[in-house]
Amino acid sequence: MPARPSGEMASLVRAFDWSRTVLGPMESWPDRLKATVDLILHARIPMALLWGADGVLIYNDGYRAIAGGRHPAILGKKFSDAWPEPARLNAQMLDVVLGGQVLHYRDQHLVLHREHGPEDGWFDLDYSPVVDAQGVPAGVLMVVTETTDTLRTEQRLRMAQESGGIGTFEWYPDTGRLDVSPEFRKIWGFGPHVQVTDRMLMDLVDPIDLPRTGPARIDQANPLEYAEYRIRRADDGELRWIARRGEVITAPGGQLRFLGVSIDITDRKQAEEAVRTSEARWRGLFEQMQEGFYIGDLIRDASDMPVDFRFVEVNPAFEVHTGLPWHAMIGKRVRDVIPGALEHLLPIFARVVETGTPEQFEAQIPALEDRWFEARARLVGGDRFAVLFIDITTRKLIETALAESEARFRSLAQSVPNHVWAAGPDGRLDWFNDRVCRYSGMDAATLSGDGWESIVHPEDQATTTLHWKAALADGSAYQTEFRLRRHDGVYRWHIARALPIRSEDGQIRRWIGTNTDIDDRKSTSDALARLAETLEERVAERTAELTRAHEALRQSQKMEAVGQLTGGIAHDFNNLLQGIVGSLDIVQRRLGQGRVDDVDRFVSGAMASANRAAALTHRLLAFSRRQPLDPKPLRANPLLGSMEDLLRRTIGMSIDLALVTANDLWETLCDANQLESAVLNLAINARDAMPSGGRLMVETSNAWLDEEEAARAGEVRPGPYVCIAVTDTGTGMPPDVVERAFDPFFTTKPIGKGTGLGLSMIYGFTRQSDGFCRIRSEPGRGTTVSLYLPRHQSAAPVEEAAPVRPVAPEVEDGWTVLVVEDDLTVRALVVEILQELGYRTLEASDGPSGLQILESPERIDLLLTDIGLPGLNGRQVASGARACRPDLKVLFMTGYAENAALANGFLGPNMALITKPFPMDGLVDRVRRILNGNME
Ligand code: ADP
Ligand code: MG
Repeated sequence: MPARPSGEMASLVRAFDWSRTVLGPMESWPDRLKATVDLILHARIPMALLWGADGVLIYNDGYRAIAGGRHPAILGKKFSDAWPEPARLNAQMLDVVLGGQVLHYRDQHLVLHREHGPEDGWFDLDYSPVVDAQGVPAGVLMVVTETTDTLRTEQRLRMAQESGGIGTFEWYPDTGRLDVSPEFRKIWGFGPHVQVTDRMLMDLVDPIDLPRTGPARIDQANPLEYAEYRIRRADDGELRWIARRGEVITAPGGQLRFLGVSIDITDRKQAEEAVRTSEARWRGLFEQMQEGFYIGDLIRDASDMPVDFRFVEVNPAFEVHTGLPWHAMIGKRVRDVIPGALEHLLPIFARVVETGTPEQFEAQIPALEDRWFEARARLVGGDRFAVLFIDITTRKLIETALAESEARFRSLAQSVPNHVWAAGPDGRLDWFNDRVCRYSGMDAATLSGDGWESIVHPEDQATTTLHWKAALADGSAYQTEFRLRRHDGVYRWHIARALPIRSEDGQIRRWIGTNTDIDDRKSTSDALARLAETLEERVAERTAELTRAHEALRQSQKMEAVGQLTGGIAHDFNNLLQGIVGSLDIVQRRLGQGRVDDVDRFVSGAMASANRAAALTHRLLAFSRRQPLDPKPLRANPLLGSMEDLLRRTIGMSIDLALVTANDLWETLCDANQLESAVLNLAINARDAMPSGGRLMVETSNAWLDEEEAARAGEVRPGPYVCIAVTDTGTGMPPDVVERAFDPFFTTKPIGKGTGLGLSMIYGFTRQSDGFCRIRSEPGRGTTVSLYLPRHQSAAPVEEAAPVRPVAPEVEDGWTVLVVEDDLTVRALVVEILQELGYRTLEASDGPSGLQILESPERIDLLLTDIGLPGLNGRQVASGARACRPDLKVLFMTGYAENAALANGFLGPNMALITKPFPMDGLVDRVRRILNGNME
């Protein structure tokens, strides 16, 4: 005897008043029926029994989950009432099975209503007859097997096969079950027959990275996760980098499921590493130098005359020599930061750039407290040059002072912050300033002659003497580095420099020397200190190395972006589709029941999801640079002006908005809507970066891109551009975020806040418009994103700020629109709405039949056609029609740029374009305006 079945359904079935159904009270049920009901109530898999010719429905707990919102109303109902939609099919099924046959449906799609709302599911359905005591079929036993997982896996496998390089996996944390795709096996190095377990994967992960992966990170509170970690590949033990992007899904019965993609990102990681090392080497060289160093770019006026230069790179020692904060110099024009310096420097640098010959010179800069500098300038390439310099003010002063009088020299020498000493022509030291004595704790008498040698570190004495002797021998500049003993016995590194002072007749009268403490700056690498001669070469070499590394990194990132796209799209679309399908299902059900209450709400829900899906495809297309753009000559200033209100509302009260527009801003050529949306996106990013307020500046300017800058921006033409720069005073981005900010789906924002598509869309838009964009950002200070759009020169009228929509006049009698569209639903919708508004409509479902109508004498005022059509495409239909109707107005509807030439020259006169999906009133408005002679 089986135990009495328990569970919710068992109680419900027992308590149900069966006497009101054709089955009659439970006590009177035939044994067969009782036994079968017992059987299904005991079963764990979803099962139902349909009893009698009408198929009265009795089901178990498993089936209840599938019944979703229909439970418990359908218990004891006729099957055709319980599931009214496929009523005919269900009736046929009952007939067939009660006739003694077995039926089997594979992978049927059902939408289930679970706690979290509607959810797609796929099921195998088995129907088999249950016979009564006489052996005649009296009921149908229905067994439901969920195949969703298998199907999803298959979909993912297909996806992975199509997109190459992306492994997919599904993991069930509760049971540890793991399904992996062939590509996944390849990435991790597993053969096709290995039973892969999560344990095996964990064992391959580099122990350092274990905390970054593993089950602990995965839960419902954190449903989307991204991790990068190292593994030892199973087949060859090679160290590889893997990126994993996954999402947690709750499977039927509350079981957790983790779906994810795995990508091998070793290439990118290596490229990043290469960039890091070469950057570090470059920086190291740059920052450890004693000498001031900067790289500058000449700025030319319209007639190509150099008028200024800009600091491109500046090293920290710059500050030591000039007293100006080195960091604040980068990107600045010299005119603005060191007024008056140009007069001395520009002619020299212009000459260096022009002739390519390095120059060594001395210059006194009034703006820098009249300091003297000795400098060497060298061409880097194009208008770019590098300058190495030191402050020689002390030396200059001493030279002058000495020439005037010994007394003035001494007082001056006492006031400088360095050790100063003097020697006779024989090299014997005979004077020291107080600093030397204070430092060494010795008096001048002890140090005199060669007494000073006793405070030089024993290891440095030999070289020091050698250098000093050499300088004395030929009267050349003396320079050496040595450790000098302080009064407390500590040795500190110093650099000693000395120059001979000559009398009128060229005889050496004195030697004047200085020692400067370089202990703090003296790095582990000693060689760097003596770089001066080879420095420029090294900088050039390392710059090239860095550029190569960056190039490799970009390439590998591009490959990876493809992988991220696939994973991201699958995730986002699943969610959106769920919203659409689920809502429509409810609507269908309500309508089936003759109810219209609340239907609106679900329709709006579906609309909202569909609109979000549309926006998503739009952004994706923007990134892939395939969106249909409608570029027009455009003045950016009025457009930005018209956005001011919107921008203010977007950024809120705590952020100040400044709109700084250049006078005489050139025209550009681009899609005005896209530009608006780009600026709006940048403003939103800026707002997000300034949670506690700040300042947002939108600035326009004309910009010339020279050959070299163009080469650096990559695939960009040199020439005139219109620049729109959006600057915030927010958090800024660290370099690794800047590097990846344009990647699709790259976001640092919490789930639900960021899509990671804003900047990738902007990138795609500018590139597709033959421009480019740039990020400059400093953590803690803020960010500037600049859009560069090419200058446009034309006689054509220029689009002003967002056009004010004319009030559409009434429809004229008899206006006829020919709708050519192969998608039945779209065509029906469009025709319906046009008719509702009083237009006459004609329809065609492909190119040739559309053309046939156009060649007939029918009145046609507007051809409204899809572009991708069977037979002839929309553009061909339009051209064909022009043969007999030269003034025919045409409005194309398109989902994406089927024709690569769409952006330029696709539209002829009297032709316009509307992008799918469009809101219905958008279409109607457009049609009205066109028929009233406004093609804009
Ligand atoms: P999303 O805004 O959806 O995250 P975006 O592509 O617009 O996607 O931006 C990508 C990432 O770039 C952001 O998540 C953020 O980390 C960074 N970012 C973009 N703009 C700014 C900004 N103005 N200041 C700081 N970080 C920014
Ligand atoms: Mg954004």
